[in-house]
Amino acid sequence: MTAQRGSQSRSHARRATGILRCPACGNTLKADAKWCPTCNFTGGDSLAIFPGAAPPLLPISDPLGLLNTSGLRKISRTRDKLIRRFPQFQWRISIDRLAIDTPLPLLGFWLLNASPLHGDETAEQRAWTVLLVVNAEHGKVAVAAGYAAETCISDDEWKTVLSTMAAPWAAGNPSAAICQFFDTTRRHLERNWIRSGNQAMNQRQP
Ligand SMILES: [Zn+2]
Repeated sequence: MTAQRGSQSRSHARRATGILRCPACGNTLKADAKWCPTCNFTGGDSLAIFPGAAPPLLPISDPLGLLNTSGLRKISRTRDKLIRRFPQFQWRISIDRLAIDTPLPLLGFWLLNASPLHGDETAEQRAWTVLLVVNAEHGKVAVAAGYAAETCISDDEWKTVLSTMAAPWAAGNPSAAICQFFDTTRRHLERNWIRSGNQAMNQRQP
């Protein structure tokens, strides 16, 4: 399973641990950049790559039914443990069989930015949303985080989190891979929360 990384942002660039990076090529950007000087990415590019209306972001989108009932139950339990500890975050999973050249970080960026707010979802909640995108066909994963959520965990930490999904995925257990994602994310958030003096991450969602 290969880790990739996407994000949501106000200025078409992502801010993680104080560094802005291009969601397309990952290169560092200036704080006020409107496009990426390396690859010329602008936020509008993801609309061109993924034309049409973005689907609503559901807690778990699994149109092909790759997760079975007991797997979904385990995912719920693991996610609830994380939500009890860090209630400000919203978690979304999109698992599908996609073409090998689907740029997962851009897909995540597009979904996070272009999907309409769903039900009573607020813009603040979207900013705290972390979306895990899984290409089940080729075993690739990416994380896209709203601009509030992405300040809480670094790119390198996401890479570590996503890498822990590889073993259960290779063993043919996608739900265990997703549980691993939630468990490892919780441990990283816990560590960062303690390290930050319990301040930056101690906000409840509005
Ligand atoms: Zn770029």
